[in-house]
Amino acid sequence: MAEKVVIIGSGPAGWSAAIYAARASLSPLVFEGTVKPEMIPLGQLAFTTEVENYPGFPFGNVRAFIESAVAKDRQWNLPPAPDSKKDGVPHYAVQGVELMELMKQQALNFDTRVIGDDVVDIEVSGDGFRIIAASGEPVEAHTVIVATGARANYLGLPSEEEYKNKGVSACAVCDGALPIYRGKPLAVVGAGDSAVEEASYLANLKGADKIYMIVRRDQMRASKIMQERAKNHPNIEILWNSVVDEVVGDGNLVNGLKLRSTVDDSISDLEVGGMFVAIGHTPNTSFLNGKLDTNEKGYIKWTKPFRTNTSIEGIFAAGDVADDYYRQAITSAGTGCMAALDVERYLVDKGVE
Ligand code: NDP
Repeated sequence: MAEKVVIIGSGPAGWSAAIYAARASLSPLVFEGTVKPEMIPLGQLAFTTEVENYPGFPFGNVRAFIESAVAKDRQWNLPPAPDSKKDGVPHYAVQGVELMELMKQQALNFDTRVIGDDVVDIEVSGDGFRIIAASGEPVEAHTVIVATGARANYLGLPSEEEYKNKGVSACAVCDGALPIYRGKPLAVVGAGDSAVEEASYLANLKGADKIYMIVRRDQMRASKIMQERAKNHPNIEILWNSVVDEVVGDGNLVNGLKLRSTVDDSISDLEVGGMFVAIGHTPNTSFLNGKLDTNEKGYIKWTKPFRTNTSIEGIFAAGDVADDYYRQAITSAGTGCMAALDVERYLVDKGVE
């Protein structure tokens, strides 16, 4: 028998869609994904340390709650709790993996089923769809929610990989206020609107030091108004015609960058306590093989205002795979909820019991 709804993706959008679909008795089936970098179990948040901006998770003894809520056989997956105390009591924000394990647990509590496999194609089959996975049998479904997210682009340097979460990040809004960056000079790589936004965010944090923008050309791609914002900010210095050759650190944390001039190849050292990469994102859509309409940047198009419908009736999209603008965990969760409600109404209209 065909599934009522198959959800592809296991980040905030996927689990929120599952929670809502399960509570509407749609018995959702989630493809969690296994393959880096496209189909990462638990999504991009699995790469983040503390998440300070997800509503409902203030600082506190978060681990005590998580250990009581998440199934014992999945707790091995949790990172060590931060060693941060206030008045002798653990006191820290929820970590990305913890938040995602909580969302997954909430979906499982309402009888969501999960397959750890990668979807490689979706075929139209009669009134519904056939979901083809890398291994395992094809799954028939009346509706599909695509919630596969988008991955941040990185420079691709081995030293950058070594220092991810130890001074290298692709999200200043998520990570910039963490203690490892606080009060230190920092670098933002990129010259688009995102890079300016990240640099401004960091420069406006309480106690911020100098923020360097590393720009590979002699001009920026960002809109004029954003460029002016960067140029006029007293804490932001733009280093033109420069690329990062190496991230330097002491093994634990970043303490500098080796920059190369794109004009004469000369090398210089820059002392910074962190590097934020803001050189764009890539939506995880290759498994769709071009079947859904996308915008010019490859993100799935929502075809109705304030709805999660796509160009194929019965396929809905949620989260960063369809959002190149907000890209926050909370907005992804919000559109995941919307997609589940859209599916529920679609199935009622189609008379699927
Ligand atoms: P963009 O594609 O606009 O910019 C990417 C930037 O990264 C470019 O400056 C590019 O340089 C640079 N870059 C790419 N690869 C490298 C590399 N290997 N080394 C160094 N630099 C590199 O992406 P954004 O994420 O900035 O923006 C995405 C979209 O979101 C845009 O449409 C933007 O307008 C929008 N947005 C709007 C905001 C707002 O209105 N407030 C805020 C944030 C985003 P180069 O220019 O040389 O190619």
